[in-house]
Amino acid sequence: MNGIETLHQWMQESERVVFFGGAGVSTESGIPDFRSTDGLYNQQYDYPPEQILSHTFFMRWPEEFFRFYRDKMLAPSAKPNKAHRALAKLEEQGKLTAVITQNIDGLHQMAGSKKVLELHGSVHRNYCMRCHKFHSMEEILHSEGVPRCSCGGIIKPDVVLYEEGLDQQVLQESVDQIRRADMLIIGGTSLTVYPAAGLLDYYTGNRLVLINKTATARDGLANLVINESIGKALEGFL
Ligand code: NAD
Repeated sequence: MNGIETLHQWMQESERVVFFGGAGVSTESGIPDFRSTDGLYNQQYDYPPEQILSHTFFMRWPEEFFRFYRDKMLAPSAKPNKAHRALAKLEEQGKLTAVITQNIDGLHQMAGSKKVLELHGSVHRNYCMRCHKFHSMEEILHSEGVPRCSCGGIIKPDVVLYEEGLDQQVLQESVDQIRRADMLIIGGTSLTVYPAAGLLDYYTGNRLVLINKTATARDGLANLVINESIGKALEGFL
């Protein structure tokens, strides 16, 4: 039996499946990840993306931050791919209890997933730092320079920047979901960004599946490693 066949058999035998994913889940929708060869770390910028997407950088150089953010983090025409759609279907069938994602693109919800735990926030939520009024992604996209609210305050995307803490409620719910899962599928993440990458340590079952094009630092822990594109690995569930 190959890896994908084993995954299908385990899916049949499981009742509480949790999926935990990263930027690799959205590359097939045309959104670059960070660490692939055509990822954002391998493109030429004045600063590494990790530095631009940090709290310090945002506060000191908001104009430069928003230039990168609009250009590289917002993908208004991106559509869910096979992986997003397969996961939504598995939830609808009552197999999958939650998608936990490090992504900020909102594509799981667009595909129809209901229970999506966004560890790093979402580009679709933006708030004025002064009056806390909500602003849409389109407003950020069509603004120039540093986007401002009608009250004059700077609008900050509700995404977790480097140096910022994760939402404790989302983190706790993710831990609870993983603890109760009988199968944990991890896909499209290099498992290098903490504390998110540490979540797999809460899984105590014996169906830990890692789907990634390349090896990850935690492959040794998995019961099944599938080195395949996430769309290909999950399309059989569509
Ligand atoms: P990463 O770039 O560190 O790792 C992505 C991994 O996915 C790589 O190991 C790569 O080999 C693999 N991969 C790429 N395409 C794949 C595919 N089609 N099928 C299977 N595997 C594939 O990403 P990360 O671990 O998620 O960490 C980066 C951080 O950047 C995250 O915190 C995330 O919030 C943020 N980010 C988000 C987006 C987004 O929302 N779409 C995009 C870029 C970065």
